[in-house]
Amino acid sequence: MADFYGLLGVDRAATPEQIKKAYRKLARENHPDANPDDPAAEARFKEVAEAYEVLSDTEKKANYDRFGSAGGPQGFGGGGSNFGGGLGDLFDAFFTQSGFAQGGPGVSKQGSDLQYVAELRLEETVSGVAKDISVRTAVSCDTCEATGAADGSETLTCGECNGHGQVRQVRQSILGQMVTTAACPTCNGEGEIITSPCSECAGEGRKIDERTYTVDVPAGVSHGSTLRLTGRGAVGPRGGAPGDLYVEIQVRPHDVFVRDGDTLLAELHVAMTQATLGALIDFDTIDGSVEVDVPAGSQAGKVFVVRGSGVPRLRGRGRGDLRLTLVVDTPTKLSEEEEAAFRQLAQLRGEEVKEPGEGGLFSKIKSAFH
Ligand SMILES: [Zn+2]
Ligand SMILES: [Zn+2]
Repeated sequence: MADFYGLLGVDRAATPEQIKKAYRKLARENHPDANPDDPAAEARFKEVAEAYEVLSDTEKKANYDRFGSAGGPQGFGGGGSNFGGGLGDLFDAFFTQSGFAQGGPGVSKQGSDLQYVAELRLEETVSGVAKDISVRTAVSCDTCEATGAADGSETLTCGECNGHGQVRQVRQSILGQMVTTAACPTCNGEGEIITSPCSECAGEGRKIDERTYTVDVPAGVSHGSTLRLTGRGAVGPRGGAPGDLYVEIQVRPHDVFVRDGDTLLAELHVAMTQATLGALIDFDTIDGSVEVDVPAGSQAGKVFVVRGSGVPRLRGRGRGDLRLTLVVDTPTKLSEEEEAAFRQLAQLRGEEVKEPGEGGLFSKIKSAFH
């Protein structure tokens, strides 16, 4: 049984942190990429990885400490058999498939996407609008032309990853030993190290600034939909490509109109006399005006459909309709003359109405019991 503590050069009382540190140092020193001419390095790298695999796992470490193997008293079989022959195959399989060599620097340079919420008036969604929006975002640093390096300074290839920008990591999974790659911690996946960072952007090659973009909002866009502005997101570090800007549309509630798909809904208010005798009512639509012919005797709740005065269809031709629901406004604050006219009308129609000063429902019921 291999001496895992000896392999990592730590004693049995070492803390997980010390074990990790020792492993990292040895893994770096023996990394096959760092020792292309030393075949023994890969073997040492695997031994160190195997030792760390056991000593970094609380349960395996306990078994190893007690029984001298990671698998407990049943033997090394289960857990241990993943090592040895399998590891090299996994390395090969992984590096063939992942294109480690081609991955290299620049892989993680893509800038992030941005989200923005644009508030629109309903009118703007009907007409379509070119909306200017201002976002705080990462933009290229002009001083260093996004390189991150101070003017005239040198950029070195990272020694830890040899310019690949990625390092291999060996870990245990339910499928056995897995080799994965991660961004190199020394160069943050860049593959190169800037010796003298640009003072303006501290070597990032980008800085935070405000940018104003014009969003072409198409007519018919609906509340909650999202528009994508390709390449208007944050730029990546040191010349990395920008992400996208996603603009979510929110439509403010309107005083008059409610939208239902391509249809606009509104109330058409008329006076009692107009509903009774009929009238031509001017109505301001969302982007024009229309004359509605209210026939005599129209009841409250009647719906008038104005074709083509709704919301434009986003994909397709034409517009939805405007649906007006009739509301009959009962007159209040009558003049003496008006009240007299109404009373006369009630009398003519034989409709029983309250006399002036007569009590409400409660007093009426009360009087019925006397
Ligand atoms: Zn700069
Ligand atoms: Zn590196």
